[in-house]
Amino acid sequence: MSGTRRRGRGGLLLACVSSVALTLAVPAPAGAYTLGNHAEITRAALPWQPLTEDQMASPVRGAVVASDVDPAYRHQGPMHCDNADWFPDGSYPRTIEDRNTELTACATGALAQFEAAVAAADGLVDERGRVSEGQTGLRAGCVWNGPERRAKCEVIRHLGLAWHAVEDFYAHSNWADVAGSGSLGLANPAGLARPEVAPFFAFARYRHMSDAAVRRDIVERAPDELTTGCYEDLDSAGVQQDCTDRVGHADLAKDFRGMPRTRTEHNFDRAAVLAQEAVERQWADFREALRTTYPGGRGELMVCALVHDTPWESCR
Ligand SMILES: [Zn+2]
Repeated sequence: MSGTRRRGRGGLLLACVSSVALTLAVPAPAGAYTLGNHAEITRAALPWQPLTEDQMASPVRGAVVASDVDPAYRHQGPMHCDNADWFPDGSYPRTIEDRNTELTACATGALAQFEAAVAAADGLVDERGRVSEGQTGLRAGCVWNGPERRAKCEVIRHLGLAWHAVEDFYAHSNWADVAGSGSLGLANPAGLARPEVAPFFAFARYRHMSDAAVRRDIVERAPDELTTGCYEDLDSAGVQQDCTDRVGHADLAKDFRGMPRTRTEHNFDRAAVLAQEAVERQWADFREALRTTYPGGRGELMVCALVHDTPWESCR
């Protein structure tokens, strides 16, 4: 399969249908988009050549599923935008400030990974302005949880951790979806039905702002009714979550077709379409960050080195 194909919206729907087969083949961790759906959404968003694409978006070992596969990340709620739950019924066990804390932890954690990827990209091009074969060769696949010195693998690893959280935001929140037909409640919170990507991951803008300004911006832009689901993992303070009387992950999530929230109004597609668009924006933001951080053509060469499987031959 070509890594340079690019799917439009109609293509994504096909991708979602075909991902049902992947869903059956790849066991899903309980707390996330199935690995197959993460992979499909990411592949659809990126114009990368096959070997490079595979490092990022293999449903088995790609960087974008590492936070679900690696036990060190699997139970970290902010890496999956979990526990930013809130329901305005007057007796909810969490406050809207708690919601804001966890939403901010998810977005700023992804921003930190994005910045680490920008820094790691420095190694893609050597002092003489040439793409380094040693730093970009992928014949042996990237290693995520062992010694890995190749700059290209480091860039992909950090971007994968960031983009996983971005995708999970749409699967785990009510940003894009609509409520079910019954009365609203903890198991059926209002859906925001937003047609545009969320502003919380605008990293090209955020990377030029102070940490305090980023946090303020996220809170200001979060609608009162925005919620993600409680998952029995760790919140941003490392506290094990008790989901009693809270909006539950399984009630709200659209990780795969067949979950309760996906039975209404194409909710799976609403989330998946925005998740793909969000990753397309992430890739555009990352290219811009490389060009502005490494001016004079060096950043442009880094972009070329990321897209191509043998960039020391393709990029000059
Ligand atoms: Zn996840």
